[in-house]
Amino acid sequence: MVEALAVRSSSGTVALVPPPTLSCAMAKAVSGWLDIAVQPLARGQFEKDLLALQVGGGQECRRRNRASAGPFSEHATGEALDIFAFRLEPGAGSSEIRVAKPDGVPQERFLAATRQSACGAFMTALGPGSDAAHADHLHVDIQERRSPASRFCQ
Ligand SMILES: [Zn+2]
Repeated sequence: MVEALAVRSSSGTVALVPPPTLSCAMAKAVSGWLDIAVQPLARGQFEKDLLALQVGGGQECRRRNRASAGPFSEHATGEALDIFAFRLEPGAGSSEIRVAKPDGVPQERFLAATRQSACGAFMTALGPGSDAAHADHLHVDIQERRSPASRFCQ
């Protein structure tokens, strides 16, 4: 079980709240993405460190989009993570950026850039606007697609 992921370039760690269970490969992918993309974006946009991600759906046995039938989602394997909010250092300016409801243009820019970077770091990145099931969070996973070239980014 992964409770906090170390981010190399930062002074501390980025906590995942509540702690999800992730596969080692997924934990590595998330850690790399935070380090290379999200932390620098938080610093660039808000001049603050990223402290935590509010998440859901690490390893959770359920079917896709919580339907009662159909394929099990990547969440069943610990290879997916749903991100609901990014928490930054307290103080003046933004300290929480909610995926469902960005507060102003800087937050919108941060979310757009974060999501774009997730397309390179994971096999799948889905968020608000993709479909109704992802209206309030950013879903990322490292599930291999049938065709190696087909990353799924919306
Ligand atoms: Zn998801």
